[in-house]
Amino acid sequence: MKYISTRGSAPALDFEAVTLAGLASDGGLYIPEHWPSFSEREIADMAGLSYVETAVRVMMPFIGTSLTEDELRALCTEAYGRFAHDAVTPLVQIDHRHWLLELFHGPTLAFKDVALQLVGLLFEKFLSGRDTHLTVVGATSGDTGSAAIDALAGRAKVDIFMLHPEGRVSDVQRRQMTTVLAPNVHNIAIKGDFDQAQALVKAMFADRDFSSRFTLSAVNSINWARLMAQVVYYFYAAVRLGAPGRKVAFAVPTGNFGDVFAGYVAARMGLPVERLIVATNVNDILHRALSTGDYSQGTVVATATPSMDIQVSSNFERLLFDLGGRNGFAMGESMREFEAHRALQLTNAQREGAAGLFTSERIDADDMQMAMRWASERAGQIIDPHTAIGLAAAARAEDLPADVPIVTLATAHPAKFRDAVERATGMRPPIPSRIGSLFEREERFTVLPATLEAVTAWIGERATPKA
Ligand SMILES: *Cc1c(COP(=O)(O)O)cnc(C)c1O
Repeated sequence: MKYISTRGSAPALDFEAVTLAGLASDGGLYIPEHWPSFSEREIADMAGLSYVETAVRVMMPFIGTSLTEDELRALCTEAYGRFAHDAVTPLVQIDHRHWLLELFHGPTLAFKDVALQLVGLLFEKFLSGRDTHLTVVGATSGDTGSAAIDALAGRAKVDIFMLHPEGRVSDVQRRQMTTVLAPNVHNIAIKGDFDQAQALVKAMFADRDFSSRFTLSAVNSINWARLMAQVVYYFYAAVRLGAPGRKVAFAVPTGNFGDVFAGYVAARMGLPVERLIVATNVNDILHRALSTGDYSQGTVVATATPSMDIQVSSNFERLLFDLGGRNGFAMGESMREFEAHRALQLTNAQREGAAGLFTSERIDADDMQMAMRWASERAGQIIDPHTAIGLAAAARAEDLPADVPIVTLATAHPAKFRDAVERATGMRPPIPSRIGSLFEREERFTVLPATLEAVTAWIGERATPKA
């Protein structure tokens, strides 16, 4: 399997190279040259498979010769063995037609563990055969940082430098990052907001002097391997609810369009997906893009769902590329226009292509809280605010055929957002014991101003230079 860039001018790479690279050298995102697909028979044969076996079947076509099937199986067994539930991503029923797909049973309590636990192991595996030391840099509004740090702490040949906006992540999220004292983990609190932290990371990649000294890599959802790992749970859930004999709809709380793009990939691979409901909070660039074709950046408003407080959705580029006839040259032009004017109009082909599978909803704070109370009163389920955005959007999909189950992706454990959950439901979710003594452990982080000079100087002194 080869991967091509959405902007057409970076070299095609195999799975191993794409995993280590993150972003393409032309600024685009890597995407498989073609979509592998499964027949109905092959999907029917997934019934009853464990999560790990489902993962091997779904991911193997993307991996090509970069790993053998047994190597992939061993990595999946190790990654998913760390989950607190035997089913890894169990389904929970809310009422006659609504289900939750619980993606938060990993070590840091958010769905990002599902992908990053595997990516950490892939990095180690691929680096073991190379004379390369990887410097991972990233920015986080909370969940990516803790999941990436947990996945990479103590691994050979890799350092991780994670920027978070000082004072703007929850106490649980911060401590999940800063109490990891492994010598290859470096936490930086930026005096600024998440967008500034993210802009600093982009600037580091673009800084020729800095980026030529180190082998930089990314762990945000621009990394293809992350999306690939997320395709698995769409198959796992749909097969359990009757696919391929029955269609399934998914409601996905969205920020960077990563998780829901994985659902699109599952549909392209032959999974009978009736609909993907894109659920945004009031930061609604994706809702505007899908409902009116207007992909224009607004100002970010802070909400109770910080992991969705995003006004540029990186992975949307992958969808536009695929729906727009896979024209890398045109895509590069469009994205340069977006970067210059912060606005882009979808073409008719893109709008019509998206309308075949996607709908979208914008959920405000009142509707989010109502969904939290609904899940609690109706089914005794305490859900986190991000999941509640998804469930509120799912509840609006009244036009779907009656035999289609609607699965809301439950993206975080409620204990990660205890204050917001308590405000809506009156209940304060306890922190699961597997998180342990988070509030007693020592923290370690460095506070830096939001300037490229400060950050590159600090990282430059600590990262391992190219040989
Ligand atoms: C990251 C995150 C999201 C958004 O996921 P994307 O893949 O960026 O769309 C939603 N909910 C939670 C809890 C998250 O951590």
